[in-house]
Amino acid sequence: MDKSESRQIKRVRTKRIKKIVNTLKRTTKNDGDAIQKLVNLHQRHGKLFRCRCGNTQLPKQLRVRITKCGVCRRNWRITAGTIFHRVRKLFPYVIAIHLKQSGISFVADELVSVTDVSYSTASLIIKKLSMVIFGEMNDEFQEFSSVSFLPVYSRRSRATPSYSHPRAEEGEFWQEGSGEIDDDDDGVDETHDDASEEVSEVSSVAASLPADEAFVYDQISDERISFNTLLDRTNLKSDKLSLLLINLQLDFQLIDHLDGELYRRRAVIEEKPKPKQKVHEQLAAIESFKDYVKSIHQGISRKYAQLYAADCWCAMDQDRWDNDALFIACIRSEPKSRRDIVDFVSPVTIKLPPRKVRSRLSSS
Ligand SMILES: [Zn+2]
Repeated sequence: MDKSESRQIKRVRTKRIKKIVNTLKRTTKNDGDAIQKLVNLHQRHGKLFRCRCGNTQLPKQLRVRITKCGVCRRNWRITAGTIFHRVRKLFPYVIAIHLKQSGISFVADELVSVTDVSYSTASLIIKKLSMVIFGEMNDEFQEFSSVSFLPVYSRRSRATPSYSHPRAEEGEFWQEGSGEIDDDDDGVDETHDDASEEVSEVSSVAASLPADEAFVYDQISDERISFNTLLDRTNLKSDKLSLLLINLQLDFQLIDHLDGELYRRRAVIEEKPKPKQKVHEQLAAIESFKDYVKSIHQGISRKYAQLYAADCWCAMDQDRWDNDALFIACIRSEPKSRRDIVDFVSPVTIKLPPRKVRSRLSSS
């Protein structure tokens, strides 16, 4: 897909987004309408909101989030305990969810263009929704080694300065001007996972790395090696070596960085492909996800690859996600904080949409 082609696809998508949002805005224009929409869902789909006392009776008309519970008489903040917990503006969420339920994938600047939120808040909303969708991917989803998607790990967003590391994407959530009031719990659990599961070397891993990373990875073994020794052995400049080591450690998760500037290969957990999966099916799944990424995002970061795959499922599986299914999943989901998103790292294996859904997309 060349640049003009992808620009054209984006133009068409932007038009569709504007049309869908304009239609939505005929009935839902502001936060009050957004709350009423949630209340309507509660009436239509059963008891989605519940007071601490267990009461699920909400007034039929409600345009603010706090109401007095008819049973315990206390103030009841209906969005507490949902994805909308402590969200300052609900309406942008309603727009984003509505678009996703319409089978549209979009990037942060497209959400900015139809709401009044900042780029960082738009990124946050999209990631939160992706986490909710990921939460709905059960064990029946096929899993693929995240290394399979190396060609699309090249994320450069508009907010990412050229040549900066793809991890700059994380910075999107911390930019100033964000309208979100997420509490940033500082009790971050920094447990290092040194679970010594049964391990084996996967020799194909190094073969699928970019050349520079593969070169450095080759110099590192199960024995600890210092940064200075690596400098000597590789003859690289120290800033370049640092960057490659960070890639190997964080993006590819192939080495560990130990105290005292020491490095060591990370034990690779052997993949156990599900027996029924045929090779050509696996390849088709991987290709279809790569096509999806290219059409929406150009490239993505390994860190969030699983969230993009969840988005891909939502866009493809209209049957599963229409009828307000995403709204309901958001209400039933635990709150997600900015910290949850920054700390999110895709698992070693990535769940992709089911085959029946993928084939539908390729035929459309
Ligand atoms: Zn109550």
